[in-house]
Amino acid sequence: MRFDILTLFPDMFSSPFRESIIGRAIEKGLIEVRTINIRDFALDKHRVVDDTPYGGGQGMVMKVEPIARAIEWVKSQNPSAWTVHLTPQGKPFNQELASSLSSRPHLILLCGRYEGVDERVRELFVDEEISIGDYVLTGGELAAMVLIDVVARLLPGVLGSDRSAAEDSFFNSLLEYPQYTRPLDFRGKCVPEVLLSGNHAAIALWRRKEALRRTLTRRPDLLARANLSEEDRRLMEEILQERETDKGGDGA
Ligand code: SAM
Repeated sequence: MRFDILTLFPDMFSSPFRESIIGRAIEKGLIEVRTINIRDFALDKHRVVDDTPYGGGQGMVMKVEPIARAIEWVKSQNPSAWTVHLTPQGKPFNQELASSLSSRPHLILLCGRYEGVDERVRELFVDEEISIGDYVLTGGELAAMVLIDVVARLLPGVLGSDRSAAEDSFFNSLLEYPQYTRPLDFRGKCVPEVLLSGNHAAIALWRRKEALRRTLTRRPDLLARANLSEEDRRLMEEILQERETDKGGDGA
């Protein structure tokens, strides 16, 4: 899968994409990440990419022509590349959206700066607008990094053959179960016994129940979208009963 990042700050991407899982995915050729400096597509000798807003007001707006030329340059290489504008006004980014993006072979990621980009960019060139959260960043670069990180780890081979994203939080709208590693006992806090039992069925059941418990406690909103089996429903009932018993205990 290819990611073309349109940015005014290409150097921001060098270090994060050299490291760890994403760095290895690039080395192995599983993903390609290219940064394209929008300034290289400016029309004048001073390479101006921003201007004051029509109608007045504070700040600067990114000009349409350099962005248009940069997108058209990428599209001349691959007309079917999908153009995403990172903006706080976009569709909220989540695991489901990441999964749908991961099936596209080529994304163009447009990173805004200043007060944002001229509206005609959206009207003429953008296929999808995405926000990484209800807050305002100084630029789209961190948002593009988040998007690439999340999408890339869904691609075959990126996490390694023994690891799949299928048990991670948000897969099937559940948070992941609690994880433990050595030592067995840390300051009196012990690893749940079932995890030492070697009984794979019992471990799987415990993990499923704890994933359900965690989601119910922390993100009940996700459960409405979860695809729960008969067994999940039975486990949920157990969890609710345990909660009731705990409440009774507290009050006694
Ligand atoms: N004036 C704009 C507004 O209120 O919608 C915000 C501009 S922001 C300071 C500059 C750039 O950062 C945006 O053009 C966008 O590319 C990026 N950005 C900021 N917050 C973002 C978010 N939550 N998700 C994705 N991109 C964001």
